Amino acid sequence: MMSDKIRVTIWNEFVHEKNKDEVRKLYPNGMHKAIADGLGSKYEIKLASLDMPEHGLTETVLNETDVLIWWGHTAHGKVEDAIVDRVHAKILDGMGLIVLHSGHFSKIFKKLMGTKCDLHWRVSEPAGEKERIWVIEPYHPICKGLPEYFELPNEEMYGERFDIPEPDKTLFISWFEGGEVFRSGLTYSRGMGKIFYFRPGHETFPSFYNKNVLQVIDNAIEWACFSGTRDTMKVSHTKVALEKINTGL
Ligand code: ZN
Repeated sequence: MMSDKIRVTIWNEFVHEKNKDEVRKLYPNGMHKAIADGLGSKYEIKLASLDMPEHGLTETVLNETDVLIWWGHTAHGKVEDAIVDRVHAKILDGMGLIVLHSGHFSKIFKKLMGTKCDLHWRVSEPAGEKERIWVIEPYHPICKGLPEYFELPNEEMYGERFDIPEPDKTLFISWFEGGEVFRSGLTYSRGMGKIFYFRPGHETFPSFYNKNVLQVIDNAIEWACFSGTRDTMKVSHTKVALEKINTGL
């Protein structure tokens, strides 16, 4: 029997956890595993990483993925263009995408945005600084169950200007202890695919154990999952007209 659970693939480059002690201590099995554990059994979850054949994103895996989550940082350049093109095509066909934190500089996010996706930041280790995330569209499904604002005591600062196209919706605005602000929860659509960018998640901080962060990711999975009628998406170049066309000739 087919499961009716939403099928989620969590992709993590999975590099810092292997080459930085502090990150390994915090996320011994990787950030992707911590996110999967935090989400529990509600979804059918697969884990994928850079070192797997085809980065774990084979045609088969993507065909069985409703929503893809993406965390990358140091190895954006090592992601093969052919895989990025494959992921891009799936998004246009309706696969949801959630891009986390430094994924703003991933090949797939930049391709979808069409801009440089650059931003201001400062070196955050060891303690980072406080991030206060304001929930500015509380009616939106991605904001379900969240307070008016929540705080992450240790995070890396990202500041405006964030070089992105105007989002469909800006759901969160972050304020940092150092004074910067940042648009930290953004929705887009490309083709039939829904895209959500969510800012927190620097690898040396425990943000993926935070219950509000996990709540946002959980809500975003449900929001990004394709809910349309796939039959209406099939394009015909020889479509029969519903009405008689009278050209007057
Ligand atoms: Zn970071």
